Amino acid sequence: MSYDPDNIFAKILSGDFPAYKVYEDDVAIAILDIMPQAAGHTLVIPKSASRNLLDADADALSKVMPVIQKIAHAVNSAFAADGVHIQQFNEAAAGQTVFHLHFHVIPRHDGVGIKPHTGEMEDQDVLATHAQKIKDALAQA
Ligand code: AMP
Repeated sequence: MSYDPDNIFAKILSGDFPAYKVYEDDVAIAILDIMPQAAGHTLVIPKSASRNLLDADADALSKVMPVIQKIAHAVNSAFAADGVHIQQFNEAAAGQTVFHLHFHVIPRHDGVGIKPHTGEMEDQDVLATHAQKIKDALAQA
């Protein structure tokens, strides 16, 4: 299957659709997931266009991993997490719902489960507060 440039993350990358953006560099942006599986659930979205890992350019993939690490450190600190869960889905059969490569970065706490994937929409004020916490952690890094 080919890349559809009208997908929602392409629109967020181009600035045509709003998002709770917490980070941007030449390689990627990081935004809050609007249906978080846990507080602080962040998506790292490479700027390079691909549907997912399967059709991604290897060089683009190697450049995005340090961004994922940076965001993992930031959510770990911002949410006083006990661990950080990285997940990434490839094609609908594997659970992918938005077809522009992205990585889920989810702070986790001992003994606390996560909500279902693409579950409930989070309150806007809560998302704004969480975005600021992650930006503050990145500024202190
Ligand atoms: P995936 O199923 O791995 O393709 O994940 C797509 C993720 O994007 C899901 O966790 C959704 O909750 C999330 N999502 C969908 N639309 C938006 C949006 N406009 N802004 C932020 N996150 C979104």
